Amino acid sequence: MAEPGNTFATLLKALHFAAQKHRDQRRKGREASPYINHPIQVAEILARLGGVADVALLQGAILHDTIEDTQTTPEELETHFGSEVRRLVEEVTDDKKLPKQVRKQLQIEHAPHLSDRAKQIKIADKICNVRDITHAPPADWTLERRQEYLAWTERVVAGCRGCNRGLEKFFDETVAEGRRLLSQPA
Ligand code: ZN
Repeated sequence: MAEPGNTFATLLKALHFAAQKHRDQRRKGREASPYINHPIQVAEILARLGGVADVALLQGAILHDTIEDTQTTPEELETHFGSEVRRLVEEVTDDKKLPKQVRKQLQIEHAPHLSDRAKQIKIADKICNVRDITHAPPADWTLERRQEYLAWTERVVAGCRGCNRGLEKFFDETVAEGRRLLSQPA
């Protein structure tokens, strides 16, 4: 196990790297919050609600969208964070060359084959996205599209179960709360 000082330095290095990479991006929601808020929240949920103290997993969470949504290469991640973290981020990265519907279907199909670490990032990512979609969705998303999104996340998470009970329970609560919110008149 690494020294606590090294652990903090390692996590802060990942935060600094991700903040640089996402610096010009905003989330799609109506609040258009800075993109970096999202990976920070994913890592925070893993640590607080999932009880995760695995540094490589938390680094992977902080960096999980860098390859998919910025110019970051896998080689760059390997240079700065090692092969374990690079592989983990690659596992949770969609192939953006594929059409969106295909990518969504592949997430469902690939989920059961992911490592336990990647599964936990997936669940925490979906928790954050469900919260965003139900609390502050993009302005052009219809109610139906939001409901479909919830149903899709449940299918992805179905393939990720068995790796972290606390996280899975919180996902279920988040989806249930989301459904309640979406069924209420605005
Ligand atoms: Zn994400």
